[in-house]
Amino acid sequence: MKSILVLTHADETGSTLTRASLEAVTSGLEITTRLSIPLTIGIVAADASAAATALASTGARLLAVSGEVFAQARYSSDAAAVEALCRTAEATIVLAPSSSRFARVAAGVAHRLGGFIDTHITALALRGADTVEATRWFYRQRVEAVLSRDARPWFLLLDAGADMAFAGYASTPQVEQISVDLLALRTTVSGFRAPSQGAQTIRPDARMLLVAGAGWTKKQADGQIHVAEAGELILGFINATGASLGSSKSLVDQGGDGQPVLPFLSHLNQIGQTGSTPRHAKGLSTCCHGEEPHVVGWRFIADRRAISLDPNCGWTRGKADVVYIADAFQVISKVNALLGESKAS
Ligand SMILES: Cc1cc2nc3c(=O)[nH]c(=O)nc-3n(C[C@H](O)[C@H](O)[C@H](O)COP(=O)(O)OP(=O)(O)OC[C@H]3O[C@@H](n4cnc5c(N)ncnc54)[C@H](O)[C@@H]3O)c2cc1C
Repeated sequence: MKSILVLTHADETGSTLTRASLEAVTSGLEITTRLSIPLTIGIVAADASAAATALASTGARLLAVSGEVFAQARYSSDAAAVEALCRTAEATIVLAPSSSRFARVAAGVAHRLGGFIDTHITALALRGADTVEATRWFYRQRVEAVLSRDARPWFLLLDAGADMAFAGYASTPQVEQISVDLLALRTTVSGFRAPSQGAQTIRPDARMLLVAGAGWTKKQADGQIHVAEAGELILGFINATGASLGSSKSLVDQGGDGQPVLPFLSHLNQIGQTGSTPRHAKGLSTCCHGEEPHVVGWRFIADRRAISLDPNCGWTRGKADVVYIADAFQVISKVNALLGESKAS
């Protein structure tokens, strides 16, 4: 008999579920509906009442581990919470969002329960009447694999964006509070230190991706380079739009002695075969040639646009939906001015 548990956790407020948790709930609902089996949802939060209210309309059995000690991510308390939820649910398949919090503990808990884990799952499906299959990509999103396993419990960490976030109506929940045996806690979480919004350029939840290519640092029509101006234009755009900032490999490789040419860019911004493969609704490439090792990282960008001086660049060869053959300095300068005007009005 299959029993499916979806694990969820609250965000830094301690009570509101993360978007990735709600996406996992949708995945769990879809697969249990198709299997015609009940769903169990586990909540880890300082205060689980708001989360339970938001999930009551799923009709799922709701289990909660709550208390101040679970407000913060900490291996020992999170692993104990997840283990207790799994044991109570007697889950054979456990779905969890691939958040830093659950990604850190899920493999350890799978081991404690004698189970197995697969990560970076992008889709779930059924083969035949009851064989659950999970899809993930290998080799930088070039090879898609469909997996099924006999090992139980089978943990599946779902990548963000794999499903829509669950949005039900609020109703009165029935929640089972699960007690957790905590060993002595050796780690005290004293707080968060994170870059300010202005300094943080990688924003996985942004609707739009702006990619900066090496052209921003090349000699322009006047025979000069304009790196300082390029930096201002790029930062002006992402600060005004809230877009995430990606880069080509050529641009981030340009720095010498660890000093990037554009100081806000690092290899973490790199998109492509040897970089990342982010998911955004829209992408705008600027001063980038659109070569295959770069564009392979755009696999999950729905609407692709590019600004390039070169009418023969890779983007014009079928890799973008719209290509503007234009000077990105002029275009982004004008767009930033328009964004400033619309903000002022
Ligand atoms: C094994 C391997 C793995 C790789 N992995 C990656 C990867 O993960 N990610 C990646 O990005 N690359 C990767 N590459 C490198 C990739 O092949 C390209 O070399 C790289 O993407 C080129 O970067 P670019 O387009 O920014 O620079 P360039 O090729 O130098 O192109 C710059 C572009 O800017 C345009 N331009 C200049 N000025 C302006 C202006 N004012 N307005 C508009 N356009 C302008 C130029 O016309 C030109 O088309 C990899 C290569 C290999 C061999």
